Amino acid sequence: MIKKLCIIGVGLIGGSLAMALRRAGYCNEVIGAGRSAERLQKALALGVVDSFSTDLAKAVADADVVFVAVPMGAMAAVFKQIDGHLKPGAIVTDGGSAKVSVIEDAKANLQQSYSQFVPGHPIAGTEKSGVEAAFAELYKNRRVIITPTKKTNELAANAVVSMWQAAGAEVESMAAEHHDMVLAGTSHLPHLLAFGLVNCLFENNNSESYFRYAAGGFRDFTRIASSDPVMWRDICLSNKTALLDSLGLYQAELERLKDAITKDDADQLLSYFQSAKESRDKFNF
Ligand code: NAP
Repeated sequence: MIKKLCIIGVGLIGGSLAMALRRAGYCNEVIGAGRSAERLQKALALGVVDSFSTDLAKAVADADVVFVAVPMGAMAAVFKQIDGHLKPGAIVTDGGSAKVSVIEDAKANLQQSYSQFVPGHPIAGTEKSGVEAAFAELYKNRRVIITPTKKTNELAANAVVSMWQAAGAEVESMAAEHHDMVLAGTSHLPHLLAFGLVNCLFENNNSESYFRYAAGGFRDFTRIASSDPVMWRDICLSNKTALLDSLGLYQAELERLKDAITKDDADQLLSYFQSAKESRDKFNF
């Protein structure tokens, strides 16, 4: 149970957590914080927060848990602004999509309460942004990964696990480096492929025809290309090493395909697709 929860960045991820915890009766009061009073006013009108402030230091002052859900590139500045203003024992956690860089940002800027910082990442989301897109069920039966460091206080980590469970999620713990490698392959790379495909097809003179004949598969595959550009710029730069590794592996696969097609190598193509199908069919998801 959380007495006062502060959400910094009341968008899709932060707003949905507030809504889920309120619905579960897991927190008494929610204060929202961010840059824009107008957008925070919307969060208030929608009943996502009870109050708000654009002064982050004031917003966190008597919060028991602070959830930071801003774009990755804004994490360091947010930590800097709240450091020294948290009440003793307050827990800070985040929802950022890459973990090694957030941990570095927290270590450099959250000096007084670094041991109370629990890095986290909900594996849930949509291509929509902003508080209008938030909904209480976003985390229901979804996974949340926490990546505690050697310095992370165990009680703080346990409290964050309980918070996510109250929001309906299943929580797993792993090393930040492992998280970043796995998410680079399963989330960050697929987003880049979708962005790349859309640009490849629509930045030429035939874009009208492509739009007209785009079928369901294309729509499904490229839906994520309408995700927030700022968020994805920041994710790429924050998970640079793991993402470059994934991109390199994928480029090698494209070369293998290109080579087989160039050589009219039917056997190679068939075994390539069979092997992918077998791997995919092993997972029932
Ligand atoms: P969002 O809907 O755009 O919300 C971001 C929020 O951060 C907004 O309320 C924005 O409000 C605030 N913000 C932006 N820059 C800020 C700054 N410099 N200082 C303070 N507040 C700032 O984005 P989101 O999808 O919730 O993503 C938030 C975080 O969750 C990101 O780190 C993202 O990587 C991660 N994440 C996203 C997904 C997803 O599918 N969307 C899934 C998992 C994790 P103001 O503009 O009013 O400041």
